Amino acid sequence: MSGEFESVPDEILIGGCWKRGTGPAGEVIDPGTGAVLQVMTQATADDVDTAVALGAAAVADPAWRDLLPHQRARYLHRIADAIERSAERLALLQSYNTGKTLAETRGLVASAAGTFRYFAAVLETADEDLTTQRGNYLTMSVREPIGVVGAIAPWNSPVASDAQKIAPALAAGNAVVLKPAEWTPLVSLALARIIDEAGLPSGLLSVLPGRGSVVGDAIVNHPGIGKVTFTGGTRTGRMVAHAAAEKLMPVSLELGGKSPTIVLADADVEQAVSGIMYGIFSSTGQSCIAGSRLFVDRRIYGDFLARLVEKTARLRVGPGREPGTQVAPMVHAEHRDSVARYVDLARAEGGRILCGGGIPDDDRLRDGAYYLPTVIDGLTNDSRTCQEEIFGPVLVALPFDGEDDLLAQANDSVFGLAAGIWTADYRRAWRLARRLQAGTVWINTYKQFSISTPFGGVKESGLGVEKGRAGIAAYSRQKSIYLGLDDQPNPWAD
Ligand code: NAP
Repeated sequence: MSGEFESVPDEILIGGCWKRGTGPAGEVIDPGTGAVLQVMTQATADDVDTAVALGAAAVADPAWRDLLPHQRARYLHRIADAIERSAERLALLQSYNTGKTLAETRGLVASAAGTFRYFAAVLETADEDLTTQRGNYLTMSVREPIGVVGAIAPWNSPVASDAQKIAPALAAGNAVVLKPAEWTPLVSLALARIIDEAGLPSGLLSVLPGRGSVVGDAIVNHPGIGKVTFTGGTRTGRMVAHAAAEKLMPVSLELGGKSPTIVLADADVEQAVSGIMYGIFSSTGQSCIAGSRLFVDRRIYGDFLARLVEKTARLRVGPGREPGTQVAPMVHAEHRDSVARYVDLARAEGGRILCGGGIPDDDRLRDGAYYLPTVIDGLTNDSRTCQEEIFGPVLVALPFDGEDDLLAQANDSVFGLAAGIWTADYRRAWRLARRLQAGTVWINTYKQFSISTPFGGVKESGLGVEKGRAGIAAYSRQKSIYLGLDDQPNPWAD
């Protein structure tokens, strides 16, 4: 195994100052071994107050407020450079704190750097609108920062999800108060140190780890927070939306999913099997877009499932820092136990466990939060197992008969985050893609991400989009300016 754990200082970033949090101490666990990595002091609602006040002052400071887009973009480039210089350290830290494989955390760190670069480029090339002239005046629509943005992130891919919020919010000229998940504060604090050391003006970024019900709630309800960008579960997202409605505050919500992946009878079986396995079992299934409901044409259902189960049973489950591991531990033993309860529920609902369905029988992994990749069938789409987000390495398979049956089942979900289609027939794929209720549809690929392509969910999977050129617009307000061209006084007054 590679790389020793290096602790991060027990300090949080409040409006440009590194201080010990004034909240309770929380243990940060290595889910691969169950060992305590370090104890971190958390933030409080008072820390949120200070961070918001300092953030508001920093946004209003002419040294930041008056920067031209290309000048602001330079900060983002500098941050991207600094992330790349610290890439291996960040990847290792994230692997220790989340259990993920190093291959995955390296990819997430690279994507964080790429996100800062992308939004620097978007910022430098964004045009403002001179709208069509309708009188003796010129009309313009310009974009201005919102002020202080609250960003609340989940534990599943911290460094990448932090960057996805911080980069466009700073690009649009805002300050950011970020709350990482209580289980995974380390990489967000390490990223904050990198951003701070890259020279971002003081006060523009605060990173306040702590419990959602304390620090998250204080951010969402703070009168000085002008927008909240939230990624997490649908239940929490709904609470955030209620609070936002009270304040009449804009909010972006990236929420849960129960995404269907579909195999038509003409699909390339080997390609579909490997894509489906990657879609559900990479990240140990802890991915909002995990393809967790598999629909296979009944004519090939038996053979297809046999091949899928045979390959799934051979996946290498092990520590995230061991070369060759495909399925790493889950983020926390509590979360692993919740996944195990879902598999018990599937059994109670009449599901057949085709592989997995328990913890690995391996002494080496005994103390970690491991769970075997699991394939279940024999359930109907209205079962709780098929309807609720499990957020673990659990795939439930269902046969379908024809397109109407397929679409009725695939769309019968409160969620609408993503979908996958495996087929050789692109006309059919296009037709299905247009009728699936999902924010993203992958055809003959799955779980690929591009920062230049907008991402968001429909139905209970979210509101608004992140990424893409629209990503910056989500962090700004539009203002219209009329520039009068008359030489004479307004005749109305005569
Ligand atoms: P979660 O329990 O909803 O927590 C998300 C964040 O919200 C955490 O930082 C949490 O803090 C905080 N929080 C909890 N209660 C809060 C409150 N009352 N007010 C404000 N903030 C509060 O979700 P999770 O279990 O961390 O993450 C898994 C979920 O995220 C899954 O449903 C997954 O699908 C979703 N997700 C969606 C996307 C997407 O882009 N659509 C991406 C990744 C994950 P604490 O954890 O510290 O309590």
